[in-house]
This record gives sequence, structure tokens and C-alpha cells, in this order.
Amino acid sequence: MDKYLIKPDKKIKLSEWNTRETSLWEKNKEDAKSELIKINEEVEKLQELLFAEKKHKLLIVLQAMDTGGKDGVIRSVFEGVNPSGVRVASFKVPTQIELEHDYLWRIHQQTPAKGEIVIFNRSHYEDVLVVRVHNLVEKEIWSARYDQINAFEKILFEEGTTIIKFFLHISKDEQKERLQERIDIPEKRWKFSNGDLKERTLWDDYQKAYEDVLQKTSTNYAPWYLIPSDRNWYRDYLIGTILLEKLKSLKMKYPTPEEGIEKIKVI
Ligand code: AMP
Ligand code: MG
Repeated sequence: MDKYLIKPDKKIKLSEWNTRETSLWEKNKEDAKSELIKINEEVEKLQELLFAEKKHKLLIVLQAMDTGGKDGVIRSVFEGVNPSGVRVASFKVPTQIELEHDYLWRIHQQTPAKGEIVIFNRSHYEDVLVVRVHNLVEKEIWSARYDQINAFEKILFEEGTTIIKFFLHISKDEQKERLQERIDIPEKRWKFSNGDLKERTLWDDYQKAYEDVLQKTSTNYAPWYLIPSDRNWYRDYLIGTILLEKLKSLKMKYPTPEEGIEKIKVI
């Protein structure tokens, strides 16, 4: 999966990253879906262990252009996990109170506790994406944030949080189809907002902003993965696999039970 791992300071040109490729899966789409079911089962067991051990904290950051598939990933990759130990934090337009604090204030409150997995659906990266593209703060302010974000994530890491960040990379054509679907299919209309069309006209500015994010904030302690995401099944397969590898690498074990437990007979 290192193919999609962004090395620190790597120069990124998103137009050179194919959004449709499926090179790490040689079989067909249906096989990938069955593989994902197996991955889900393993993730489920390891999540239970993470919850029981209460030692590690896992933070997963999802970022994408509109229609990029963040919700889809949450649905298919985390299917079956125990909801007691997994939480989704979605970051929307900041409220007045949030705006009165620094941009990391609302983020830090949602970071995982011991034994917990938290998925960020959008994140502090919006503060160098939408905020930059729409000039919501001056350049001097947003441009200082890359270093601040690295420092913030370093604190989380040094205090025991494992961080994985995924950028779901779709093409502009794919977005066009997905937006049109949201208009044409009645059950999908709730997802559509006119604002999405306005954002689409700013596609190039967003791509540039994402390039800077990937270039400046992929670190050894909080790496970015650039996931080709035009094909949902491949996107889910990759993220599931990376997540599983990460969980395995934590070398978790169940806590030691109380001494003499094996002799206890419940009457
Ligand atoms: P959605 O994820 O479709 O529900 O939309 C959430 C909206 O909130 C998106 O348009 C984001 O760009 C916006 N958003 C999230 N974080 C921020 C932020 N820090 N500043 C401004 N807008 C934000
Ligand atoms: Mg939206």
C-alpha cells in the first residue's frame, strides 16, 4: 500500500495521479467486495481488542472534494464495528462560538480517547482548504497553519494517538456524474446543495490547496494516503486494507484478567 503513501515533503501534482486506476487488485470488482467483507471481519475483531485493551487511540481523517465518497467509506469500511468504540466526528461550517476560538479548539475536543477509534469526516484541514479558497482569513493566517497542524498532530502522536489520513481523489468528470445523480435520483436529492455547483467552479483552486496539504502535512507520525477514488470498490478495498495493516501493527493484547479467574465457578 506504500504506493499511495505520501512521503514527507514529496512534491504533488494531483493531475498526475490517476483517479480511476485499480492496479493493486488483479481480480474483478466482485472479488474485491468479498475481500472487503473478510477485511471487515478482521477489523471488527481488532477494534474489539483495541476497545478492551484501552491503550491505543486511533484517529482517521477523511478529506475529499464534494462527492468524493467520505460517507461511502464510513459505511462500507466500518460496517460491523462495535458502535461503543467507534465515533464519527463531522465538521461543518463553524458555529459562532467555534469561530470565536482558534480553529483547533473544536477539533481537539473530538480526538479519540484510549480504546477509541474516531473518524473525522472533514477536519482541521478545512481551515487550509475552504478557508483558503474563499479567503475567509488572510493568507498570512492560513499559511502559518501547515506548521501548526503538524505540531498539533505531533502532540497527539506523542501522547499515544495513531493517525492515518486519507485523501479520496476523484476526477472532475466523476464529480460531474455524481452531482448529476444527486439531482436525477430522488433518494439522493437530500445530499445535493446548490453550493456544490459553486464549489465545483473553484475546482482548480481546491486541487492546488489539496496539493499543498499533501505536500506540507504528510509526516512520519501522521501520514497521508492518496487514494484513487473514482471506483468505490477499489477505494474501500484500499482503505480497509491500510486500516487493517495499521491495527495489526499495534500488537494489541487483551488485558490480563484477575488472578485465579480460571478457578472461579459462577453459581
Ligand atoms: P457537508 O460535509 O456536505 O455536510 O458540508 C459541510 C460544509 O462545511 C462544507 O461545505 C465545508 O466546506 C464546510 N466547512 C467545514 N469546515 C469548515 C471551516 N473550518 N470553515 C468553513 N467551512 C467549513
Ligand atoms: Mg456536501
